[in-house]
Amino acid sequence: MRTQVGIIGAGPAGLLLSHLLHLRGIDSVVLERRGRDEIESTIRAGVLEQGTMDLLTEAGVGERMKAEGAVHHGFELAFEGQRRRIDLTGLTGKSITVYAQHEVLKDLVAARVAAGGKVFFNVSDTSIHGIETDHPSLRFVYEGEPHEVQCDYVIGCDGFHGVSRAAIPAVRREDYERVFPFGWFGILVEAPPSSDELIYARHERGFALVSTRSPNVQRMYFQCDPADSVDRWSDDRIWSELHARVDSSDGQHVVEGRIFQKNIVGMRSFVSATMQHGRLFLAGDAAHIVPPTGAKGLNLAVADVRVLTAALVAFYKEGRTDLLDAYSETALRRIWRAEHFSYWMTRMMHRLDDASPFEQRLQVAELEHVTTSRAAATAMAENYVGAVAV
Ligand SMILES: Cc1cc2nc3c(=O)[nH]c(=O)nc-3n(C[C@H](O)[C@H](O)[C@H](O)COP(=O)(O)OP(=O)(O)OC[C@H]3O[C@@H](n4cnc5c(N)ncnc54)[C@H](O)[C@@H]3O)c2cc1C
Repeated sequence: MRTQVGIIGAGPAGLLLSHLLHLRGIDSVVLERRGRDEIESTIRAGVLEQGTMDLLTEAGVGERMKAEGAVHHGFELAFEGQRRRIDLTGLTGKSITVYAQHEVLKDLVAARVAAGGKVFFNVSDTSIHGIETDHPSLRFVYEGEPHEVQCDYVIGCDGFHGVSRAAIPAVRREDYERVFPFGWFGILVEAPPSSDELIYARHERGFALVSTRSPNVQRMYFQCDPADSVDRWSDDRIWSELHARVDSSDGQHVVEGRIFQKNIVGMRSFVSATMQHGRLFLAGDAAHIVPPTGAKGLNLAVADVRVLTAALVAFYKEGRTDLLDAYSETALRRIWRAEHFSYWMTRMMHRLDDASPFEQRLQVAELEHVTTSRAAATAMAENYVGAVAV
């Protein structure tokens, strides 16, 4: 099989890249380890920045997102028994949209299939060859048979645990990492929203986030031990923990409902510099991870795709390689900004077991500052909506 761009991973990065290239007349093949049903039903991100919405719209997959996504003009910070609002639109002129990642994936898969795109689901044994030559290739097993795709470029969009990053020689790569000693216990709940906007809560028992997925399905998280087990958490215990961390002294409280999914995710910050070697380029979680506190992961994956699409189009339409050569450097500017914001928000909102009482009071002082100083609130809002110049 021969294509122009071989893409590993049918997450948001791989599918969006493949579709944007198709719209510009560039052929690609996408290889995905999991089944279509699985990628279309795995619940992950939900907060889309305007720039992400714009690129999805440009790709022609914005219709359902605009009809069904919920536009949020602010969010609330809960601490010390009270709630304070960050007015995103008032401070930045921008908003965010809550539209679940698996819905984005459904839209992208449908668009790829309708366009006759080559997406191979349920592949195994993906391997990358010849990235230091002009003729790289991908080998994989599909329906029990070995296959090979020859291409001009290989794009690794295969997430943090994929094979692409390791294909860059260790001597070329510098990995920057911080693994947090806590995780998030996530639940999906059949209930109306507890609040019109997301609530980020700092409490001495730990962080909590009240988020939404649709008018009937809510997503809530609370800080936990990453080694904990969901089996140890009865529904009653979960609700009492969420009430303790989120309910405010003026009577606003978390709305309970039927819990139909529980999971625990670890928290990590990670950056691979460089994001390219020879004819291999990394995009999205394959190259970087942020703790979900700042809602940046999916948005960063889409931002990488924007840079990479422009670079590949410049190569195929104008024979230029300067944008490809600069890809890693260009993408890393936004990535480091988002890494800092996610880390800062994580440190401010979570219970830090190594923090002294003095440092815990500093967390509260910082929350007071970002909710009372217009300048501090604006900086936070600009980062949250992705409106920071990089
Ligand atoms: C609980 C949680 C909440 C989150 N909330 C937010 C949020 O609110 N906002 C936000 O912006 N981000 C959020 N994120 C992060 C976001 O989900 C990720 O950053 C995003 O999925 C990255 O997209 P990607 O395409 O780079 O990688 P992925 O979505 O991980 O896709 C990679 C794909 O590659 C496939 N793959 C892996 N290895 C191989 C292989 N060897 N061969 C073939 N295929 C392979 C995988 O099966 C997968 O489908 C959250 C993440 C989690 C876990």
